[in-house]
Amino acid sequence: MNQKDAELDPQTESTYECFDCGTVVRATAPDACPECGAEMRNRRTPIE
Ligand SMILES: [Zn+2]
Repeated sequence: MNQKDAELDPQTESTYECFDCGTVVRATAPDACPECGAEMRNRRTPIE
C-alpha cells in the first residue's frame, strides 16, 4: 500500500467543471467550456 495515488499528473485526464453552466468534461487541459465557452475549473483543485 502506498499513498501516491493522489499525485497530480498533468498528462493524465482529470475532471473539469464549467464555472458558468456546470458542464463537466474529462480532459488533460481544456481551454474553455464546450457548451458556453466559459472558464473550466479542475474539480480536484480546491478554490483559493
Ligand atoms: Zn459552460
